[in-house]
Amino acid sequence: MMTTHTLASLRDRLAPSDRMPLVFLGHGSPMNAIEDTQYSRAWSELGRNLPRPEAILVVSAHWMTKGTTLVDVSAMPRTIHDFHGFPEALYRQRYPAHGAPELARKVASLLASHHGEEDDSWGLDHGAWAVLKFLYPEADVPVFQVSIDMTRGLDYQLEIGRILSELRDRGVLILGSGNVVHNLRAMRRDGAPQDFALEFDTLFTERMTDRDFGALVDRQGLGSLLTMAHPTVDHYLPALTVAGASDRRDALTFMTDAIDLGSVSMRSFVFHAT
Ligand code: ZN
Repeated sequence: MMTTHTLASLRDRLAPSDRMPLVFLGHGSPMNAIEDTQYSRAWSELGRNLPRPEAILVVSAHWMTKGTTLVDVSAMPRTIHDFHGFPEALYRQRYPAHGAPELARKVASLLASHHGEEDDSWGLDHGAWAVLKFLYPEADVPVFQVSIDMTRGLDYQLEIGRILSELRDRGVLILGSGNVVHNLRAMRRDGAPQDFALEFDTLFTERMTDRDFGALVDRQGLGSLLTMAHPTVDHYLPALTVAGASDRRDALTFMTDAIDLGSVSMRSFVFHAT
């Protein structure tokens, strides 16, 4: 059974809990960071309904590493403008939140079994700040990123999520930022959704609803549909990290379930303790 809830009902369902919710946002085009879109509006509304965390841990599609899971321990993470050919206004954006060095160091050791290491060279890439500026516009919650080890299988990010899940009870909001479907080569100017985009987006939603995460990391089972939806899996993996940090007690709410530009799913979701 698939259930989809509106943001309005989400407000009632996000009752105060000691256990922080988990958020995955489809970030799509960097332009969402400076334009009033249905997505940026939904992120603002979500931000008004989320509890105020002690810190935010972001897993973004735009920080990929090889052989390590890096944790940014910098005190003031810089705003990274990791895109090309966009309007000047986008390069002027800054998200001046503090880091959370002490917590980040603990997270690096928590991830020791998965080659967790401290790093101070990254900061906040646009997968992080382009959505955070709507969720927490005052930039007054400490935030730090954790990288994705691209040399591992899909199930590795489920494991990372499982390890990170204990942070939810320590006031940490885990935020994944990517896209459920992300094939920039198949974009359409008229925006009409590609069949494979709709198909993968639906399959993802059904498997998530059933908590059948095994199916979502089964490359063979997903077959060519996965390679159509994700020629590279960078934007897919943060959704798996978030799934891995969830448990059976969590309710699941979907939002902004549109296909943008023909081949980018903007589907987002929230797990929250009940
Ligand atoms: Zn992206």
